[in-house]
Amino acid sequence: MFITILVSDCLRKGLIEPYFEKEDVFIFRNHWSLHGFTGPSFINIALSQTKTDYPSNIFSTNYGVFVKRQKGQHPLSHARSYPPNAKSFCLEFQDSMFITQHPSFNSIDGQDKVAKKFVFMSYEENPYCWRLTDIVKVGVRYLKMMKLRSVDDVVLFIWSVETHGNPRRKHFGLKGEDLAIKKSVKYTANVIHPLIETSDIFMLTSDHGETYIPKHGNLGEWGHPDGTSRKTHPSQFTIPWFIWGIGKGEYKKETTLLDIAPTICYLAGKPIPKRFEGKVVKVDEN
Ligand SMILES: [Zn+2]
Repeated sequence: MFITILVSDCLRKGLIEPYFEKEDVFIFRNHWSLHGFTGPSFINIALSQTKTDYPSNIFSTNYGVFVKRQKGQHPLSHARSYPPNAKSFCLEFQDSMFITQHPSFNSIDGQDKVAKKFVFMSYEENPYCWRLTDIVKVGVRYLKMMKLRSVDDVVLFIWSVETHGNPRRKHFGLKGEDLAIKKSVKYTANVIHPLIETSDIFMLTSDHGETYIPKHGNLGEWGHPDGTSRKTHPSQFTIPWFIWGIGKGEYKKETTLLDIAPTICYLAGKPIPKRFEGKVVKVDEN
């Protein structure tokens, strides 16, 4: 089984859903992020665990994200570490690769806790400016190589930032932020098909959505401010989850990021590790 999961950072559900409504895809209509930030969501997705409040960090110190919690800072900001005995869902597979553009993961500690292979394709740092198009090529090549080697138990885990902040502005315009976001989401929807076709099962989700901040600088801006909650800022927490390869349909009961890893293992016919806190979502029992 070849499973690919793409986490498109900072992607609001409502913006991407229209692109796939007519495709042969399963759509989860009631899917939620728990924290609204990259770091904790990474733990939720990769480990299916909620224990995100450890004092050190898994992230790069180069980008200033390893910060002590400042006065007034939301307790669930970026700096987080792995819980003890962390092991991502990828390690349940014979081979796995984690490809990321997210600067926070540049010098991630314990890469071996995430996947067997680790590829960093930085958006901001690389002079060639890797884009999602390039990631898709690398991913397809990896899956084809596995096929050639007759490795059949493979998961490819991608964390892209194309629809998020600076990368978006770089390619889709500084002005008209909302237009830039929409162009960026359209780009994402349009370039992923080679990966969908190379995978037996392909998932698309996000780590969190966005909240509109009216007075961010002089202009309003979409972002993820501290102190938001699912109740007060739902657009920061409602995220997409699509699965290609299991037929067409929709699932209306609530799911969260914790359910991703167990569901991946279930779809691959694997036992569900006890350390997972999320549930297996069986779409045929909808
Ligand atoms: Zn994020």
